[in-house]
Amino acid sequence: MHQYIERFGFVAHSAETAEKALEMLRTTVVDVVITDILLPGRDGLALTDEVRRRYDCPVIVMTGYSGDYSYTDAIQKGASDFVFKPVRFEELLLRLRRVLRERDLARERDRILKELETLAITDELTKLYNARYFYRQLEMEAGRCTRYNHHLTLLLMDIDHFKNYNDTYGHLEGDKVLARLGQTVKSGLRRLDSAYRYGGEEFTAILPETRADEGRIVADRIKASVKNERFDPRPGGEPVHLTISIGVTQYAPPEDIAGFVQRADRAMYISKQKGRDRVTTLAA
Ligand code: GH3
Ligand code: MG
Ligand code: MG
Repeated sequence: MHQYIERFGFVAHSAETAEKALEMLRTTVVDVVITDILLPGRDGLALTDEVRRRYDCPVIVMTGYSGDYSYTDAIQKGASDFVFKPVRFEELLLRLRRVLRERDLARERDRILKELETLAITDELTKLYNARYFYRQLEMEAGRCTRYNHHLTLLLMDIDHFKNYNDTYGHLEGDKVLARLGQTVKSGLRRLDSAYRYGGEEFTAILPETRADEGRIVADRIKASVKNERFDPRPGGEPVHLTISIGVTQYAPPEDIAGFVQRADRAMYISKQKGRDRVTTLAA
């Protein structure tokens, strides 16, 4: 069988026992396992079970008609296909190719699903997480906070006089600012923190394990780096600088999320009223 399979362009390895096959799987990348049901020691179904649990590798099981095992047993253990002995090589080859094709399709489907999941939580323009994911994460972090008594701080940020920028330099230039400042916000965060585009020119950041006074330090750093960014919406013209207003507040368990976000928004609004380009902390 070994030679037969190799004649069709596959590389084949043989193992006399299930243990030897498992040993081989630990060190070699294998696309398909073909096993007899009857093996010395651990049988082919136990091997199938083990391979399916530990490796992303399909298994084809071979058995005689008179065997004690049924097709259902093999499929339940995760076998991808089944051939009766004596094995007709043409049939084995067909099944081998089909199993490989199905595995490729499954991998492609997983890749697409993953990509869709990422798309569903990402803001296209800034590549930050979007508002939908913000609420999901905030809900989760607030839950942890309530259960384990952790700290949690929220930053809400809004670019100052952004309408002027759009009106003066055009919407496309405005978009470039949003994309860049999104990254500026993200760069100001620490490992556990996460940044979101909350609305048009508004960003949020969730800071787990963080008190408001610690969050304020992060906010001050972001405010300073935003001010440092220079934009050149008119080639050859003067560089333009922008500022951002930030609200900071700490979660007060077990308050609801809406109230928490509103307080961050109120804090941000106070920053606006006090002249913009500043950070305001509001306690619950
Ligand atoms: P303030 O300092 O009070 O925040 O002033 P502002 O002009 O930033 O605030 P306002 O809410 O009046 O305007 C927000 C502007 O943000 C309106 C719109 O032109 C701009 N904006 C919102 N979303 C986008 C976007 O996706 N792209 C661009 N280019 N501009 C956007
Ligand atoms: Mg706004
Ligand atoms: Mg604004």
